[in-house]
Amino acid sequence: MTRIVIAGAGLSGLSLAAHLAVMDHRHPVIVVDDGRDPLSAKAWASWSDRPGLLDAAACRWFDQIRVHVNGTTKVLRLGRYRYRVVRGGDLATAVRRLTDPLRHFTFQEGHVDRIEDDGVVVDGRHLRARWVFDSVVGPAEEPPADALLSFRGWRVRAERAVFDAEIPTLFDFRTPQVRGASFVYVLPDDAHHALVEHTSFMAPGAAADEAAQREALAEYLTEVVGAGRYEIEREEHAALPLRAGRVERRNGNVLTIGARGGLLKASTGFSYQRVQRDSAAIAESLHRHGHPFALPAEPARFRVFDGVLLDVVMREPAQLERAFGALFRYRTAEPALRFLDEATTPAQEWRLFAGMPAATYLAAARHRLVSS
Ligand SMILES: Cc1cc2nc3c(=O)[nH]c(=O)nc-3n(C[C@H](O)[C@H](O)[C@H](O)COP(=O)(O)OP(=O)(O)OC[C@H]3O[C@@H](n4cnc5c(N)ncnc54)[C@H](O)[C@@H]3O)c2cc1C
Repeated sequence: MTRIVIAGAGLSGLSLAAHLAVMDHRHPVIVVDDGRDPLSAKAWASWSDRPGLLDAAACRWFDQIRVHVNGTTKVLRLGRYRYRVVRGGDLATAVRRLTDPLRHFTFQEGHVDRIEDDGVVVDGRHLRARWVFDSVVGPAEEPPADALLSFRGWRVRAERAVFDAEIPTLFDFRTPQVRGASFVYVLPDDAHHALVEHTSFMAPGAAADEAAQREALAEYLTEVVGAGRYEIEREEHAALPLRAGRVERRNGNVLTIGARGGLLKASTGFSYQRVQRDSAAIAESLHRHGHPFALPAEPARFRVFDGVLLDVVMREPAQLERAFGALFRYRTAEPALRFLDEATTPAQEWRLFAGMPAATYLAAARHRLVSS
C-alpha cells in the first residue's frame, strides 16, 4: 500500500490532508507534528473569489477593505472577492471533520528529525513512505531572500469605539518608515478590539528595531486612530524571508509544501490561498497520475514582478506606497487582488503598472533579468 507522510500539521500540512481526504483513494496518510507552533495561536487572513473546501473554517468574512495611501483614505469594495479570516483551531476542526471518518488518516505527535527519499525519521524511528510532503525541513538550498517582511502586531482593547468592525485596513501608510517601507494593518474584531500590526519590508539580514516598531504602533493608536487608553492583550512578531526566486520543490519522492515550498507570495507575505490551490493540485495529480508532481506551471513573470518590486523598495522605500497606490487606484480592489492572485492577463498588468514610475521599474527589471 502506498503510504503518504505529511511532515508538519500547520497551514500547508492540514490543508493538504483535507484535499487528500476528499480524494477517492485509500492510501494511508500520516500527518506528523511536534506541536512546537500551537495552532491555537495562529490565524490567517486571505482573499478569494471562489468557494473553497475549507470555507467552514473561516470565522470572519469581509466584502470591503480600507486603504490609506498617498494622503487619502478609501473604502474599496472587493468585487468578486471576499476577505476572510481562518483561525488555526477552526482550520484543524474543519480538517478533522473530513479526515476523522476515514480510517486511513492518522495524526501523530512526533519530531521530524530528517526527511529521506523513502520516508521520514520521526523521533529516531524510520517511517517508510512512498510520497513525503515536507513543510518542516525544506530544500537543501533555498534561493537567497530578496527582503524580510518584519511585523509586530498587538491585539488591543481600546477605550474608545474606534475600530470599524466590518472593514479591515489592508494598509495605512500614516506611520514612520521603520528600517524600510512600512505600513499598519488593522484587523478588527469589534469597535473596541482589533489586531493592529506594524509591517516593514527590510533588507535581508537586517534586525527589526523592536522599540521603534512598538513606538510606531503606539503612535498609530493614539495619534492616527484616536483610541484613547488601550490595553495590549497579546503581542506577535515575526520576520518572514521573502524570496522571488523559484524554489526547487521536488527531491526524489519528497515535495516541499507551504512556506518551505516557496508558497509565500514574495511581494505580500500571504500564502493561505496559494496553499489551498497547491493542495488541490497535489491531490488532483495523485488521483490522475498516481504521483504528486503534475502541478500547473506558474507563469514566471509574477516572480519577476515580485522581485522587481522588492528590489525597488529596498533601494527606495517610498516606492512601496506609490506602488500600492497605483494598484489600488480603481473603484474596487478587485483588479489589485486579481493581480496579487497572479490571475491577470499581461494587458491588465500593463494597465495596472501605468501609475508607476516606468524608468525605475524598467531599470530594476533589466538588472534582475541580466543577473538571473
Ligand atoms: C505570525 C504570522 C502571521 C501570518 N499571517 C498570515 C496571514 O494572515 N495570511 C497568510 O496568507 N499568511 C500569513 N502568514 C504567512 C504563512 O501563511 C504562514 O507562515 C503559514 O503558517 C505557513 O504555512 P506552513 O504550513 O508552511 O508552516 P506552518 O503553518 O508554520 O506549519 C509548520 C508545522 O510544522 C511543525 N514543525 C516544525 N518543525 C517540525 C519538526 N521538526 N517536526 C515536527 N513538526 C514540526 C510546526 O509545529 C507547525 O505546525 C503568517 C506568518 C506568520 C509567521
